[in-house]
Amino acid sequence: MSYQSESSKSGEVVLYGIAASPGVSHGQVFRFLHDEVEVPRYEVAKDEQESEIARFKDALKQTHDQITEIRESVARNLGDKEASIFDAHLLVLEDQALIDDVVGEIHKTGDNVEQCLHRVSQRYYDYFNQLKDEYLRERASDLQDISRRLLRNLVGATAAGTAFLAEPRILVSEDLTPSDTASLDRSKVLGIATESGGKTSHAVIMARASGVPAVVGLRELTSKLSDGDTLLIDGFEGIAIINPLETTLFRYGKVGLRRKKIKDLLEEQAHLPAETKDGQGFNLFANADSVEEVASGIESGCQGVGLFRTESLFLRKNEIPSEDIQFAEYKKVVQAASSLPVTIRTLDLGGDKILDASGREKEENPFMGFRAIRYCLRNPVIFLEQLRAILRASAHGQVKIMFPMISGVGEIIRAKEFLFTAKRQLSEKGEKFDENIPVGCMIETPAAVSICDLLADEVDFFSVGTNDLVQYLLAVDRINNQIAYLYEPHHPAVIRALEQVFEVSKTKGVEVTVCGEIAGDPHFLPLLLSLGVDSLSAAAPLLAELKFFGRQFSYDDALRLLEKVRTCRRPSEINRILKDFYDEKISDLLG
Ligand code: PEP
Ligand code: MG
Repeated sequence: MSYQSESSKSGEVVLYGIAASPGVSHGQVFRFLHDEVEVPRYEVAKDEQESEIARFKDALKQTHDQITEIRESVARNLGDKEASIFDAHLLVLEDQALIDDVVGEIHKTGDNVEQCLHRVSQRYYDYFNQLKDEYLRERASDLQDISRRLLRNLVGATAAGTAFLAEPRILVSEDLTPSDTASLDRSKVLGIATESGGKTSHAVIMARASGVPAVVGLRELTSKLSDGDTLLIDGFEGIAIINPLETTLFRYGKVGLRRKKIKDLLEEQAHLPAETKDGQGFNLFANADSVEEVASGIESGCQGVGLFRTESLFLRKNEIPSEDIQFAEYKKVVQAASSLPVTIRTLDLGGDKILDASGREKEENPFMGFRAIRYCLRNPVIFLEQLRAILRASAHGQVKIMFPMISGVGEIIRAKEFLFTAKRQLSEKGEKFDENIPVGCMIETPAAVSICDLLADEVDFFSVGTNDLVQYLLAVDRINNQIAYLYEPHHPAVIRALEQVFEVSKTKGVEVTVCGEIAGDPHFLPLLLSLGVDSLSAAAPLLAELKFFGRQFSYDDALRLLEKVRTCRRPSEINRILKDFYDEKISDLLG
């Protein structure tokens, strides 16, 4: 559901958004401010003003140390030119006029340092921001960045400030970035509700993988909340209810019991093979972005890891990890997969996955920009470090390597040249690795679909990333909730593209998996199987339901469904047909 409306009855406010991660939860709200900092205001007695100023000086030093560290890491990984952007930040911290103004404000107003810093930096910001000179206007945003970091240090908050939550909370935010989600303390997050975001934004994918219910696209949510409010989120239907009434909670409690029954049923059968009612088997793999998620995928009875997203390690650490740190992580991943195959995808930074330490410039159109393989091919040091780390991990289990966002044969050839260099470097050092490590590429751009026969000559396997394929094929930004109603994986164009890739894979003898979010949606399962794919990779919490639903229909049922789908011209008709098929097969069972 992509539109929004609101109804309210005696205190409870119902908002409609987009169902992003299944599950229902209810709890106290925690407003998550990933960039802004709430600025406290209180009076400071005259004889305490000096210690207030000392606090300011400590925060200046702490911030200076942090920026210097980031600068050094960027210089090491990317070079001095990229690191020099942080020099402007350091200059702001050393600016005596700014420091004197803050100290003067403390003396003049008697307010606390956070409040004084906020006021002074806002004055500077307003001044620089209205200047015609573009260079000076850019200094305004440096100033804003640095004063936010200073404020965070003063109030003792971290950028992703959930670590200090005493109790589990529902996290509410205007938007959530993947680096916010990567650094959340998930044991303290009951659910996520955001104003913006789409179903396949990476923050949402991460929430789904960790089983945290989420609703996104809830316009005006934050402005409707007050301190102390509770929120119920229904991640199945895309509903958020502020201060739900007892009757609402009761209704949801009953729904919860029914869902619990279903969950138990799925778990009981989780270790049965993945096959249709008439025994047509298919392969189920797990998508994961941490060792824990690999372990829970394996526990759910999958056949390995179909997509390990490496960028999460980078986002969690908020820096570019060294080869040894990466190797240690990939080795743990391989060990957690207990001899089953693991497909490790090389770094897919960019789009909505922005790493401050990567020293990249801000882009107008990041999803069409300097992302994934494009970034790696232009950053040889980072790319080679990662390739060596993955290769070293391949000595400890069955590893495959996969390149994201390929749009031409040249990219895959260059990526393989890097792989060759990484192998040579390791051999020279006598390191062990799998010489014949299988190499694959993601099919997630329309160009890759069109030339998949040419790509097939270069790789051992394909993995279809429908999250991006849908966005690029339909020209619909996957994280823009204003056009979320146009993000339609049921679109005939998507189905035709899938069919083309599956057919070419068969002819060329190249294995193919679907690893986008549709692979975890049981409604798509019969369609994907009838189109000819036999391997799917999805978040661990979704695997049991996929297996369960697979056993409710025969392969012939799926083929008949495909015939119906082929007669449709609109995505909504296809959506309806898949839903009806699902409901019909499942309704008898659940009573
Ligand atoms: C995809 O695009 O479908 C995919 C699996 O990659 P990501 O979601 O990480 O972009
Ligand atoms: Mg992708």
